[in-house]
Amino acid sequence: MSPSDSSISFAIDRRRAEFADPAFEDRFIRHFLPLRNAQLKGSLLFAAGFYIVFGVTDITTLGFTAIAWVLIALRVLVALVALGGYCAVDRHPDSVPVSILASSGLLVVAMGVFMVVCWFQPGTLAWNVMSLALIVMAVYVTFPNRFLYAVAIGIGSSAAFSAMLWVQGLLKPDDLLTLALLLVMGNALGCIAASRCQVAQREQFRSSYLLHQLADRDPLTGCYNRRVLQKGLLEAELARSRRHGTAVAVILCDIDHFKRINDEHGHAAGDRILADFAGLLRAMTRDGADSVVRYGGEEFLVVLPGTELDGARALAERIRRAFAGQAASMDDGTKVFATASFGIAAVPARHADVPATCEALIAIADAQLYAVKRGGRNGVQGSIASGTSIRAAAAVPPSPASRTGLHGACRGRRASAGPAGAAFRRARR
Ligand code: GH3
Ligand code: MG
Ligand code: MG
Repeated sequence: MSPSDSSISFAIDRRRAEFADPAFEDRFIRHFLPLRNAQLKGSLLFAAGFYIVFGVTDITTLGFTAIAWVLIALRVLVALVALGGYCAVDRHPDSVPVSILASSGLLVVAMGVFMVVCWFQPGTLAWNVMSLALIVMAVYVTFPNRFLYAVAIGIGSSAAFSAMLWVQGLLKPDDLLTLALLLVMGNALGCIAASRCQVAQREQFRSSYLLHQLADRDPLTGCYNRRVLQKGLLEAELARSRRHGTAVAVILCDIDHFKRINDEHGHAAGDRILADFAGLLRAMTRDGADSVVRYGGEEFLVVLPGTELDGARALAERIRRAFAGQAASMDDGTKVFATASFGIAAVPARHADVPATCEALIAIADAQLYAVKRGGRNGVQGSIASGTSIRAAAAVPPSPASRTGLHGACRGRRASAGPAGAAFRRARR
């Protein structure tokens, strides 16, 4: 689990049948939103169709009377609300509030109209009770919704129905009591089914989330590990940049004289500084858009979609200053300062013609980083990925990239470290 995730509570609040942490609940809901919306759209069409079809019963029970036509008009209203919800979900597939409103709104309107229909058709009491039982089942099981909203709609409509029968005085008190108890039981069973389903889905999501965290994250820093690059993180961003003509930048960062820090203050102090640096990188980049990968020992790759060279440079400069200005506190009270160097490569927007591969992009960033190291460290330098710079980067095999197997990280196999790589390692010190 990553350090940032240690602040997340993975507990499930069983009374609400939701994750206790609203942010994690939101992540869960968004993960399943396409599936939920597909189910919801099916349920909305189903509700619209059946409300209209059952208009036949208004005619057979009440004849072609004004009341029958009013009831049919109300049924059409329900169908329109259902179709409106369908269109809203279709237009806003990424909106959680729209999805919940479409579901709850339809159910509330449908229940309201159902009560009016029952009020004007007291003679069909047995069928009305059965209809209510079926609708309550749909509220709990068929319509994707927040558990608490489903409970409120299920219990509210059952209470309203019982109150209506009591006011109408059609049932003897003992029959009314039996009916009310049956409705309590129906709601209890619905609650149990819905709660079990909601909790089971969340438990499954939590397990797969934690497994992914274990597989893709570096345990010390909480950043992505190289496996994520091998799975195509940067390649996917480059492909997106080519497809949409958007910019993309990478920053390769390396802590300066880290070996010396380890030697002078111990490995634990080194670890603390590494974790602090990673925390800074993650805190200063955009959550959900940028990616921070632990690339080598004390080296990190930051992938910045939609970012031009100037933006990446400004960000690297902010991180450089913040890191140089913050001290890591050791257990014995001593404070250790460290600095880092940054090399940037950027593909500008609308440059689909730039033949940037992730190997080339990283090699350019690495050459820039190397230049900063040679120039005294604690600095930022960047370059646009142009045809020339890509050719230049490609002409320096296996050099900088090989020391951490950079090319291998993109292609899914390790590059061999040749003499040039060894020379580079020496040159850096
Ligand atoms: P430069 O300024 O040129 O980057 O010099 P450097 O000393 O930072 O670079 P070098 O590559 O020589 O040293 C990196 C060191 O990082 C060597 C290795 O022992 C240390 N290191 C790698 N991974 C870890 C880790 O997880 N924890 C700690 N404490 N040290 C690590
Ligand atoms: Mg270093
Ligand atoms: Mg290094």
